[in-house]
Amino acid sequence: MNKPLILVVEDDAAVRNLMVTTLKTNEYRYLVATNGESAILEASSHNPDIVLLDLGLPDVDGVQVIEKIRTWSNMPIIVISARSEDTDKIEALDAGADDYLTKPFSVEELLARLRVTQRRLSFMTAEMLAASSVFVNGKLRVDYAGGCAYMNDHELHLTPIEYKLLCLLSKNVGKVLTHTFLTQNIWGRSWENDIASLRVFMATLRKKLETEPDSPQYIQTHIGVGYRMMKVE
Ligand code: CA
Repeated sequence: MNKPLILVVEDDAAVRNLMVTTLKTNEYRYLVATNGESAILEASSHNPDIVLLDLGLPDVDGVQVIEKIRTWSNMPIIVISARSEDTDKIEALDAGADDYLTKPFSVEELLARLRVTQRRLSFMTAEMLAASSVFVNGKLRVDYAGGCAYMNDHELHLTPIEYKLLCLLSKNVGKVLTHTFLTQNIWGRSWENDIASLRVFMATLRKKLETEPDSPQYIQTHIGVGYRMMKVE
């Protein structure tokens, strides 16, 4: 297998050097872009495996870069943002980013995000090759064709909304899904009430899914942002 090719989009030289050094010492190949325009150019001409994208770029907003890339590619994009506001992350995730990292971040955090994204990639590829209508993750099995789910070979008794939630999360395993994305896909809208209902359904789904709902293995909460299904080994 070729070493994964990572496109680093960052205008801050210090942060960029940290990322490049981390990638180099961990056997990744990399490309560098210092603004949005060249990011789009590098992404289209080299088709990187993963994009690490700073949101605050000197020419265009990072969200616009995501929107542009999404017109032709599903390549994983991990947003890196100094902005602590959740709205920026949410905007980026809704535009099609896969994950986010908030500055300042540690080298370990960066590597962990890359691993999650790579696992998701290899998993999705294997899944597509098998052209399977069954999703398996740890002890969880979702039979999309049959419309049912199993944990440890025992059928889970899910309400229609819990099942829909489970399908959305499993079909996007490894990816952070925002509250808006989930409520839009379930109810076709995203009102305050819908986000409150989403929390309730997520809690009941978790009770059925997780052995220890207090330290969940399958579904991760991103407070103020959304939820992600983790790939379980
Ligand atoms: Ca910046």
